[in-house]
Formats: sequence, C-alpha cells, structure tokens
Amino acid sequence: MLFERLKQQLAEREQAHCYRRRRIMSSPQGVKVSINGRDYLNFCSNDYLGLASHPALKKSFQQAVDRYGVGSGSAHLINGHSFEHHALEEELAAFTGRQRALLFSTGYMANLGVIATLLERGDTLFADRLNHASLIDAGILSRARMQRYAHSDMTALAEKLGQCSKGEKLIVSDGVFSMDGDLAPVVEMAQLADKYDALLMIDDAHGLGVLGQHGAGTLEQAGLDAQAAPVLMGTLGKALGTFGAFVAGDELLIEALINQARSYVYTTALPPAVAAATRSSLQLLQTESWRRETLAKRVAYWKQAAAQLQLPLMPSDTAIQPLLLGGSEKAVRLSQKLDEQGFLISAIRPPTVPKDQARLRITLCAEHEQADLDRLLEALDKLVNRNSLDD
Ligand SMILES: *Cc1c(COP(=O)(O)O)cnc(C)c1O
Repeated sequence: MLFERLKQQLAEREQAHCYRRRRIMSSPQGVKVSINGRDYLNFCSNDYLGLASHPALKKSFQQAVDRYGVGSGSAHLINGHSFEHHALEEELAAFTGRQRALLFSTGYMANLGVIATLLERGDTLFADRLNHASLIDAGILSRARMQRYAHSDMTALAEKLGQCSKGEKLIVSDGVFSMDGDLAPVVEMAQLADKYDALLMIDDAHGLGVLGQHGAGTLEQAGLDAQAAPVLMGTLGKALGTFGAFVAGDELLIEALINQARSYVYTTALPPAVAAATRSSLQLLQTESWRRETLAKRVAYWKQAAAQLQLPLMPSDTAIQPLLLGGSEKAVRLSQKLDEQGFLISAIRPPTVPKDQARLRITLCAEHEQADLDRLLEALDKLVNRNSLDD
C-alpha cells in the first residue's frame, strides 16, 4: 500500500535527523521576526536587501490592488497579462541588458520552462553537481541526457563537452550556489561554451540585486554580456523582496518561451500587484545602492571575525555564509541551541546538500547591524568552539 511506504520513508527521515518541520511566522519578513510569540534575530532569510516589507513596495502593492484587484484571472496567453506585468518585463530586460524578459510565476517554473523548451531527447545538459533542485528536475523533464560535473570543475566540464558528439548542448549553473554561497566560474564557463558550441544558462537567484555595480548580478560582476551568457534566469522572491521569476534573453528565446514553455502557458499569471511591487523594488535597487554596499561591508566583517574565531566557514564572499558541520544531528542540535538563544538559522541537511555535509546556512542582510553579527559570533564561539553543544 502506498501510504505504508510513505510512513516508512518518514520514519527513516526522522531517524536520520532529516525530518522537516515548518515554523509559523507571525511578523513581517525582516531581520527581527516573531515566531510562536518569541522574538528572533533572523539569519536565514533570502531577503538580502530588506525589501520584502519596505514601505515603498507595500504602497505600490496596495495601490495596484485598488486598481487591478487581487487575482490575475487567467494565464498570460488568455487575458491575465496586465500592464504591470508588461512594464516589469521591459524594465527587467533593460536592467539585465537583454532584448526581452519574460515573467514566470516561480523560479522553479522558470527553470522547468526554459530547459524543457530548449532541449529535447538526444541533446545534452551539462550541470554542476551542486545546482539547485529545480535545474535538476528541469533536466529530467526535458528528456535530454544529463552530464553532471564536479562542483565548479572546469577541467571536468571541458572533458565532458569534448566527449559529446551529437545533439545540442546546454551548460547550466547557479551563479551563486544557493547552499554554499560561492560563485560559479562564469568567465571560464562562457569560454568553454564558446569553444564547444554550447549555450550557457545562468540561474542567478542569489546574485541578482546583490552583486555587480548596479545590482544586475553575477554576470555584471564578472563583466559578461548577453552574448557570453545568452540565457539568464532571475528570481524576484529573494533580494527583490517580492515573488516570482523571469527569464531574460534575445527576442527569439522569449517568443519561443511564450509559445512553448508549458510552465508558462498552462498556469495563471502572477497577481498584477506583485508585478507592481517588484517595479518599485527594481527602482529602489537601482537608485539606492547603499543597501548593497552595507551588505558587502557586513559580509567582509563577518568573514574576518568568523575566521578569527576559527569557525568552520565555507569559502564564500556572498551573503550566504554557511558553517560546515558534517552530521545532520550536529547541525540540528546547533540550530536548536541557537533557537533557544533567540537566533533563527536553519540546519540544511541531505538531500538538500550531500551526505555528511550538513550545515548551518547563515545569511546576512543589509539590515543587520554589526552588533547583531557580534552577538551571533559570540554565541557560535561558545557553542561550536567550547563544545557546549552537548550540554
Ligand atoms: C530559490 C531558487 C530557485 C527557485 O526560485 P523560486 O522563485 O523560489 O521558485 C531557483 N534556483 C535557485 C538557485 C534558487 O536559489
């Protein structure tokens, strides 16, 4: 019986300290949050710039609700495509330096849509081993052959590209790896794509808004243009503080997606108010670079201070600063101890990360004060370095 199997799978998860439970938030997203009536200092949000509850976003959202109502009513190709969606697409295209952009309801769906539209059976998808789950699922859905190369290993990628003799080739990678925080070697990837006649796609969920002089992300920071990396996926639910995602690229790509991407065609459009709020956030991001600068300062301070305490930092220069712990039980215990002291940081365990690489995924935000970082550093020093984890 199917339910028997589920029961057994859940029991196995529990035993391996990998069972997941949700916490119920009763406050807005931010650096200080409230859960079950308790206040926390939040170190696990992807709201890197503190825009999710920004007054300007709330105001555009509310005004758009007054004007357009709540639901979009149908898919983009029926009559759900509003003025706000269209204006946001044009602004995202300009922001990322591309001909066009196309909104999707989530990043997960954007990845499914673009990869399944580009690839068919007989083609090959070259994917970093640590790519986001949605990119892996997209590869499976496309029916292309999947070649996963060791994390950021360009020699391995070149070898696999060299061995591929038939069909079309797509290389796909996170720009900033979501559970590790390190950057993909995008310049080398673009060179390999060029050399082996492959197309390069970057999923910049954690770089967009945060990296690059204007916040246009990993590719801007690396100095790569639309020709070097023709397919860009960005999400709106992280640094941009709202919800949804987009794919940016040439006219041809976007027209193909509008016509063929099943996760675009067969789903209801985002509420227009979400698009309106995102337009505000995109504007703030471009006019107020101080959030990015503050965040970069916090990251530099954190890395230096955590290294001094010899905390098990992973090699990252971004807002994602995981501490590698190894076993799931240890990660869960540390997360619980921190919870007791008012710090909200989730333990990331397999299958989200490889076996024996459980970690605390600490994320820094522009709204964190240096004193907030000091408080967490002091708690971690006691818990990790002085072995008070077992008390
Ligand atoms: C969050 C994330 C996604 C999914 O985006 P959603 O809009 O949350 O569905 C895709 N790729 C990466 C790398 C992500 O971190």
